[in-house]
Amino acid sequence: MTKRSYDVIIIGAGSVGTPTAHYLAREGFSVLVIDKNASVGQGSNKAAIGGIRATHSNPAKVHLCLESLEEFSSWQHTHGDDIEWIRGGYSFVAYDEDTKNELLAVVEQQKPLQTGLVWLSAQELSEVIPALNRQNLLGGTYSPQDGSASPLKAIYAFWSAAKINKVRFVFDEEVIQITQHGDFEVTTTKAQYHSHYLVNAAGAYATDIGGFFNEPLPVRPNMHEAGVTEPVQRFLNPMIVDMRVVGNSTNIYFYQHATGQILFCLTPSPPIWGTKQVETSQFLPLSARRILSLLPALEMVKVRRTWSGLYPMTPDGSPLLGWSQKVDNYFIAAGMCGQGFMLGPGIGKLIARVLAKDSTKTDETILEQLSPYRSFTGGESLE
Ligand SMILES: Cc1cc2nc3c(=O)[nH]c(=O)nc-3n(C[C@H](O)[C@H](O)[C@H](O)COP(=O)(O)OP(=O)(O)OC[C@H]3O[C@@H](n4cnc5c(N)ncnc54)[C@H](O)[C@@H]3O)c2cc1C
Repeated sequence: MTKRSYDVIIIGAGSVGTPTAHYLAREGFSVLVIDKNASVGQGSNKAAIGGIRATHSNPAKVHLCLESLEEFSSWQHTHGDDIEWIRGGYSFVAYDEDTKNELLAVVEQQKPLQTGLVWLSAQELSEVIPALNRQNLLGGTYSPQDGSASPLKAIYAFWSAAKINKVRFVFDEEVIQITQHGDFEVTTTKAQYHSHYLVNAAGAYATDIGGFFNEPLPVRPNMHEAGVTEPVQRFLNPMIVDMRVVGNSTNIYFYQHATGQILFCLTPSPPIWGTKQVETSQFLPLSARRILSLLPALEMVKVRRTWSGLYPMTPDGSPLLGWSQKVDNYFIAAGMCGQGFMLGPGIGKLIARVLAKDSTKTDETILEQLSPYRSFTGGESLE
């Protein structure tokens, strides 16, 4: 008979739930992951373009992503799967004084965290990114330890490793009710399961899960648009992020993937709230204009495909991470905004330590800073 009772049930086989299952199973927990989609990573994970950085203005995110970087960069060596990891670095570029000052503040703030983030003058940055448009360039940040990987290959790798560790995944099952009488009783569209711990890793739908306990979360999805070009010979190493507001967009970021394609993502302005995911194609001309203004050499490169996906946003642009204060043994890992792919492994390892009662001082500080009950003043300046 199929097992119905587990130490931990994770709702969501996405960027966060899948690595978390892997690390929990490694600690010896029996784990069930439930997802309403047909297979692993079919929520926001598959929309992500693959950027992984430890460059954030929020120190908790820095710590989590440093741990993620370690995992992504060593994955092939440790587990054998090629997840198309490449350590190309990241560069936030400045073409105006406001952006420059904001970035210089982040560089200063990160010094004690030893992430390797530096400020480069226009001349120095041109040496790192020779194709970058020099006109009005004031310089930019450079973090050579950052990189990228394939979100599809990475999640498949976490899923495979989790299954080796006996994690059970059920797909095409939507969680429609949760009650707690000592243990949790989780009802899906197909079955009922029980667990001692429950992890909410439901991404854009995390607030619905909280709703089962009358504790809706401040997670509000909004739509972003991304695209991929044909492959070209390698000429670009870092992910380039331009934070300027241009037309109907706040920022754009793009890089050359390990396989040669340029992958890009644009943040619409004003935000497009809700769970609708229809690519509009109205953003392609704007994306193309913005990318070409930074890298004119891409002029003849053809875009192959565009798509849209959801950022699960929080009021301050940082995740909600920690135990519920209302429901015992219910852990919230939601509101990843535009960084859930890069945060996933770091968060998964932290959750595994917390449940194994082996958390570090840094973990406790992270949980304090990312508490779902914080006041949400301020915001992440490197969104
Ligand atoms: C265009 C775009 C580009 C991006 N680029 C990057 C990037 O370069 N780097 C980066 O780090 N991040 C990036 N992101 C952000 C990243 O994709 C998200 O932050 C991340 O995927 C969120 O992870 P998650 O596990 O919280 O959610 P998801 O990956 O969406 O997983 C949540 C899962 O929960 C399931 N679920 C929800 N409710 C239920 C229910 N009731 N029952 C059962 N299952 C349920 C869903 O089906 C889903 O599979 C990008 C996002 C977009 C849209």
